[in-house]
Parts: sequence; structure tokens; C-alpha cells
Amino acid sequence: MVLTDARCYLPSAMASQPTVCIVGGGPAGLFAGLLFARAGVATTVLEKHGDFLRDFRGDTVHPSTLELFDQLGLLDRLLALPHDRVDTIGARIMGADITVGDFRHLDVPAPFIAMMPQWDLLDFLADEAGRYPDFTLRMNCEASGVTTDASDRVDGVRLKDGGRIAADLVIAADGRRSVLRAAAALPLREIGAPMDVFWFRVPKLAGDGNRTFGIFENGRIAVFIDRRDYWQAAFVFAKGSAVRVRERGLDAFKAELAGIAPELANGLRSLSSWDEIKLLSVALDRLTRWHRPGLLAIGDAAHAMSPIGGVGINLAIQDAAATANVLAGPIAAGADPDPLLAAVQTRRWTPTVRMQGLQKLAQDRLIAPLLAGAAKAQRPPWPLRLMQHLPILQRIPARIVGLGFGREKIASPDAGRRRSSAD
Ligand SMILES: Cc1cc2nc3c(=O)[nH]c(=O)nc-3n(C[C@H](O)[C@H](O)[C@H](O)COP(=O)(O)OP(=O)(O)OC[C@H]3O[C@@H](n4cnc5c(N)ncnc54)[C@H](O)[C@@H]3O)c2cc1C
Repeated sequence: MVLTDARCYLPSAMASQPTVCIVGGGPAGLFAGLLFARAGVATTVLEKHGDFLRDFRGDTVHPSTLELFDQLGLLDRLLALPHDRVDTIGARIMGADITVGDFRHLDVPAPFIAMMPQWDLLDFLADEAGRYPDFTLRMNCEASGVTTDASDRVDGVRLKDGGRIAADLVIAADGRRSVLRAAAALPLREIGAPMDVFWFRVPKLAGDGNRTFGIFENGRIAVFIDRRDYWQAAFVFAKGSAVRVRERGLDAFKAELAGIAPELANGLRSLSSWDEIKLLSVALDRLTRWHRPGLLAIGDAAHAMSPIGGVGINLAIQDAAATANVLAGPIAAGADPDPLLAAVQTRRWTPTVRMQGLQKLAQDRLIAPLLAGAAKAQRPPWPLRLMQHLPILQRIPARIVGLGFGREKIASPDAGRRRSSAD
């Protein structure tokens, strides 16, 4: 069921059922919503926007995520959506075209990255979850905090419109600026990121080709994601220097981009205002405790990921799978979730810390020196050069990026209440 207005809503038929309220209809929230509803738990997902048609951060659906869809029997339907299949990842680093990872050897049902606009992925998840009678998606419904009972246990979500939704468990999946994790006073450790991103569209012209590519040069980093009709461009610059980039003027900005991606120069001419260029702030942080009685944080709300490696969506979805694996069965059976919340964090802690550690390493060793124009070498780093001579080595980054660490298998129960599309 999808509700597009913002009234406080608690289905009366569900009043005696265990209830989960998930705040945030991003990858983490919707995937968790699908799994909890599949297990027969009355699940409400709240999303503050009215649709998914926004410029999200990233279009990468990785092999580990595709594997989870396969385990749910949804892979063929997902891959029927328009997407580009990326078998290898490459970049132009210091002028050299480099292959960084080769996914084709991964032992999974879909050994490639499916590039698809994130709104298509989210629409797909919302549709699939909507086939379960226990699933409700509330669009235009913004949470402003949590409510607690007399023992200070979280027992519901406070809405911006003044309403409240009661729940046996609240899941904070509201992203890097999570209102809920702040309201729940969960402790945060900032790791920091040296960059921010300008995010904008460049029209695609005949002859532009079809490939997502990244360019890493001393002083300049840009990524161009192929979205068939246009390029989704990311221009990366030193954190906090957006004003300085803007002060140089739009023409100078376009000229700089055309300098690093001459093939897009014609398309870049059509950029006419800074209003078309959004500033995305990059964060790298994690909660040191992801839960308190009645509430669990997952996805970016528990650990904001940097764009490096394009792994954030996939970590968010692995968190959702782990959450359902640990909690959905017991909650459906009427058990108290609180003693189990720590097990979700334990399960996802090492995969998160390792991936963030690698992102920090890349930030410190590659991104920050490049952005400062201080990279000493005039060539790609030696491990990347070695990979070009020994392609078997390209399987290592592909495994790390494509599968991540400690990947989940769907183990949460299926209560068998799914409606077919014809119902
Ligand atoms: C510039 C940039 C580029 C990136 N590129 C990639 C990439 O290519 N691939 C990749 O895998 N990752 C990428 N990432 C990281 C990725 O975006 C995140 O890790 C991922 O989206 C996290 O998913 P999530 O569901 O936890 O949170 P989000 O995707 O942030 O979803 C949170 C949802 O909660 C909603 N919400 C927020 N507050 C409230 C509220 N109070 N009430 C109700 N709803 C609320 C939001 O509208 C949103 O829909 C990138 C990040 C950045 C900054």
C-alpha cells in the first residue's frame, strides 16, 4: 500500500500485530521494508519526499546486491529494467586509461555492476514490497524525532506534522543527516572526507559513446555516469571550496571540465546557470553504537559512506538483509527485539569498518593529494600499473568492490503472503 498524503496512519487491522516503522525510503529502508513485510511483520516505511525522482547519489547495483535479488527470485525482473552492464571498471588516471577491476570472474549469479538510475531501483523495491499486505509506504511523510515510553524505550516516531506512529521497533534508515540517530542520541565518530561534489547533468550528443568513466588528474577529479539520454556528472573538489569554484565563474568551470573531458565539450556548453549544479557534501562517519532499546540505525544513518568505490548503496542493502536475518523472524513470532539489536551491529561492524578504512586510505593517499595538486608522480600509482601487466590482479579490487566484506544471504522467513501482480 502506498499513501501519498502525510496524515498519521496506523492500519487498524495491524493493531495487534508486531509493528516496525522504518524511517527513510532509500535503499536501506525499502529493502528492509520488503524483507520485514515478506516475513509477515506489519511494516511502515516513511519517506519525506513525494517521489523517488530526485538526483540520488549513485546508480551502482553491485554483484552482492544482485545476488540478494536472485535469492529473493527477483533478479530477472530487476534486470528487465533498463540498465547498463559494467563488466570491468576503468578510469583515466594521470592521462593513462587504466582497468581497475574485472568482475567477470566472480562466482555469483550476476558478475557485473548494473548501472541504473537509483529512482528505478527504489520504484522497483517499493512495487515489490507493495505486493505484501503487511507493507505500507508513506510518501510525503517526514519524521522529526522519536517518542519514548516511561522507561525511556523508543516506542514510536514523531512526525513533522505533529502526528505519531507507534512501533515495536523503529529503524532509522534516514541517511547521512539522520534526524533519528540524533534524536536517539547515538554516539557518532567523524572520520572526515577531504572532498565535496558538484552534481549535474550534461546533455548527451550523438557520438558521445556509452560508458561511465572517471578522470583523475593532478588538481582535478571528475566522474561521468552514462544515463543513456544524458551524462550524470560529478566534479570533485576540496571540501569547503565550493564558493571558490563558483567565484571563478561558470564559464571557467565549463572550460575546466572541457579540458579534462574534451569529448563532452559540446554538451557542457548548454550548462547555463549554477542552479543546474547541486552541491553534495561528502561525509565519512559511523555510529559507535547503532541501537538503543526500541531503535536500530542502518545504512548511511549508521555509517555515512564516501562515494569512493560506489559501495554505499550496497552496504546499505547488506545492512537491511542482516537486520531482517536477525530480527524479522523473532519479531514476527512476537519476541522482544531489544536483546537482538546488538547482534545486527556486531554482524555489520567489521564489513563497515573495513570498507570505510579502504575509503579513508584512498582519500588520504589518492584523492587528497590529487585535489591539492600535490601528487608527486606523473603516472598512475604502481599497483595500478602492475594490474595492467598482470590482469589477474584486477580480480582483487573487483572482489572487494563487487562483493564487499561479510556478505549476507537472505535467511529471513517468507510468510507466503505475497500477492501476484495480477491481484
Ligand atoms: C556524491 C556522492 C556520490 C555517491 N555515489 C555512490 C555510488 O555511485 N554508488 C553507491 O553505492 N553509493 C554512492 N554514494 C553513497 C550512497 O549514496 C549512500 O551510501 C546510500 O544512498 C545510503 O543508502 P541509505 O538508504 O542508507 O540512505 P539514503 O540513500 O540517504 O536514503 C535515506 C532516505 O531517507 C529519507 N529521509 C531522510 N530524512 C527523513 C526523515 N526525517 N523522514 C522521512 N524520510 C527521510 C531521504 O529522503 C532518503 O530517501 C554516494 C554518496 C555521495 C555523497
